[in-house]
Amino acid sequence: MSVALTDIFAAAQVLRGQADATPLIPSALAPRLGGALWLKLETCQPIGAFKLRGAMSALATLPKTTPGVVCCSTGNHGRGVAYAAAARGLRAVICMSELVPQAKVDGIRALGAEVRIAGRSQDAAQRAAQALAATEGLVEISPFDDPQVIAGQGTIALEMLAARPALDTLLIPLSGGGLAAGMAVAARAISPNIRLIGVSMDRGAAMQASLQAGHPVEVTEVESLADSLGGGIGLQNRLSFPLCRDLLDAVVLVTEAEIYAAMQALYHEDRLIAEGASVVGIAALMAGKVAPSAQMGTVITGRNMDMAQFTKVISGQDIALGEITVKGQRYG
Ligand SMILES: *Cc1c(COP(=O)(O)O)cnc(C)c1O
Repeated sequence: MSVALTDIFAAAQVLRGQADATPLIPSALAPRLGGALWLKLETCQPIGAFKLRGAMSALATLPKTTPGVVCCSTGNHGRGVAYAAAARGLRAVICMSELVPQAKVDGIRALGAEVRIAGRSQDAAQRAAQALAATEGLVEISPFDDPQVIAGQGTIALEMLAARPALDTLLIPLSGGGLAAGMAVAARAISPNIRLIGVSMDRGAAMQASLQAGHPVEVTEVESLADSLGGGIGLQNRLSFPLCRDLLDAVVLVTEAEIYAAMQALYHEDRLIAEGASVVGIAALMAGKVAPSAQMGTVITGRNMDMAQFTKVISGQDIALGEITVKGQRYG
């Protein structure tokens, strides 16, 4: 089982008019980055994040008799599944760890889904989701290791390359790798020479650790400005790991301070409000960790962060993240 360009075109049909056609805008940061940077604004999705694409794509294939769906989530996948389930009149149960920000938990409840908080890691939430699938007959929807989910996320690259065929680099926020895998399948097929770079935070980057080990490994999950990028890739990973391994040119890691600076830059220059996970591509460019090219693109993946923390970042205050503190710095 894998995912091909035809699957991504099929997903695009499912999403049409519901979770597609987000804006692709030029970043005002281009002069200081050394090349044009196009921002795909998935913050404009009805749930404020791209995960609606994968969730809708996955739920569309379920039979009408399905008793309901269950998933684990760092927040946005749960929101996507909750929204897609409500649209189909299905029961949805979302399992999350204690590390998931309250704003995301509240957003999911508001969509009518049941929420279960399980343990202090995404892996614990995953075990809870698996248990519920077994005991209550619910269908489990993986946040990243599912062919329909990967195909749904891949539609982002279809839209970007249809609008800007000259894109020569894609910087893709990377956690479980559903987004990177789907976008890479589409982009490699359409533009074989395009440079594809996954970007994660440097603490608890499960895909990078797994790629280095040559197989899926567990990492310790810690608090991050990029909370949507936390969690493992699943020791039984079947799809997103091999696709990322085979299709990405590189994975780059950025520090919390670099994420902080990129959130400030996106806000003050592009006037955009986005989660830390959304700006890791910009952070990698600003830090000089990725060589610029003429036509770069990145996905502004979501906007569902805790607003108190966001306000602190853009006004230059210190941010406490568990054991570490990101030193505040005023922008400019
Ligand atoms: C899920 C998510 C990601 C990472 O996607 P993966 O498919 O897990 O790699 C990035 N940004 C945001 C906002 C997310 O919710």
